[in-house]
Amino acid sequence: MKTETRNIGIAVEMPKQKCSDAKCPFHGNLSVRGRQFTGTITSAKMRRTAIIELGRLQFLKKYERYEKRLTRLKVHNPDCINAKEGDVVKVMECRPLSKTKNFAIVQKVGIEKGFKEKMEAREAAKFAAKKEESVNEAQNATA
Ligand SMILES: [Zn+2]
Repeated sequence: MKTETRNIGIAVEMPKQKCSDAKCPFHGNLSVRGRQFTGTITSAKMRRTAIIELGRLQFLKKYERYEKRLTRLKVHNPDCINAKEGDVVKVMECRPLSKTKNFAIVQKVGIEKGFKEKMEAREAAKFAAKKEESVNEAQNATA
């Protein structure tokens, strides 16, 4: 375990704890560079890996309006930051850590308001879609 917290070159708050994660931007050998995003964690079930979602707006020229798009990223979640679901985090690009993981969390910014409600609504929508499907199937069977 390294005893020093490394300066990673951007203005972020240093984590208070120390860790022995080799892929930690502050205490390991991982250097971060490139693109930076801020997003909400929707899953932190994997070990040292989390999934974040970033909402963005895409302009549609034909309709002169914006559409909402959603980007999902797998990010490295170092032991010293240990972000949980619902946390808003700042991530920064790094070398590929696995086949689909190219970002690491550098700072916990806050907690998203109404995150639990949002996820519950999403689950409910999934359930409703399934129910509709099974009703349709039943109708097809009788017809
Ligand atoms: Zn660390």
